[in-house]
Amino acid sequence: MTGSTSPPPELEPWLTETFGSVQAVREQTVIKVRNPVTLEETLFAPLRARRPVDGAPAGHDLAAEIAATEDDPFCHPETGTPAEATGRVRGRRVITGANAALADAHHAVIVFDAHDPLDFDVELVADLLQTGRAWAERARESDPAAVNYLLIWNCLWRAGGSIIHGHAQALLGSGPHYARIERLHRDVAAYQSAHGGDLIEEIVAVHRSLGLTIDVADGVTVVANLTPVKERELLVVGLAGMDETDERFAAGLGRTLVAYRDRIGVRSFNMALWRPPLAQADGWTLVPPIARIVDRGDPFQRPSDIGAMELYATPIVGSDPYELIDALR
Ligand SMILES: [Zn+2]
Repeated sequence: MTGSTSPPPELEPWLTETFGSVQAVREQTVIKVRNPVTLEETLFAPLRARRPVDGAPAGHDLAAEIAATEDDPFCHPETGTPAEATGRVRGRRVITGANAALADAHHAVIVFDAHDPLDFDVELVADLLQTGRAWAERARESDPAAVNYLLIWNCLWRAGGSIIHGHAQALLGSGPHYARIERLHRDVAAYQSAHGGDLIEEIVAVHRSLGLTIDVADGVTVVANLTPVKERELLVVGLAGMDETDERFAAGLGRTLVAYRDRIGVRSFNMALWRPPLAQADGWTLVPPIARIVDRGDPFQRPSDIGAMELYATPIVGSDPYELIDALR
């Protein structure tokens, strides 16, 4: 859709400086993309990314801020975090602890050995996937109804992380899966019964036909999402029936996160692993492991990147999925 504005002459110098030209503000194109099955939808409004911000930060040094918090409780997790009732799970470079403030019956922090949350590599991501899953399987032994496993990573404060030290979180709940994953499960089932098709496979195929995918590992596809929840959202999609600890998926996710940090320059991000329940997973056979990753922007930016549109309406995004996928190639 297009919209137009009528700037007063007094504003023109400022508009030119901020947005490149007055014409760019006079006539604007906003693109709305909706997935008709899932109703995921995004408004692409490129000028939004160029808006000036009051109180814009200057002179912040992220590395120094991270280093200043060294010697926190997560630097010595065995005394700095509570243990789970079933005991800690140790990976090669990560260790679990109980989250002191539980969000579900089973809720762990997975603390990285390295303090700096950006000090990760492909091997650490594989270690994280394996340790998280081992934690979930152990928790399930004592509570067989708890099958809904979720792995999340909030990197830095901008993404909701309250502790800077590198860590992810694992949750395990019973009953229906976490709401957004249950929603996908329903959409996949409804699509199959209405059209006889595989919804996830078709979403990937649509992106592939538009040049918005990369085959990052055998059977693992990176998708620059056409209906992103916020800036630069990527999906890492495995094959139905593939385990997230499968080395192909782990390597695909690890490479994607490393490229997100190094080539795109992302510093603060959210990652969530969507996968079917660990057992009793009737009707989930078409749901592959999917990691969703979103950029939360400059850690020193004062306004939040999300507002009422993102919470209650349709997210507004300034970044271009085509530029994103090209930068990752
Ligand atoms: Zn630390």
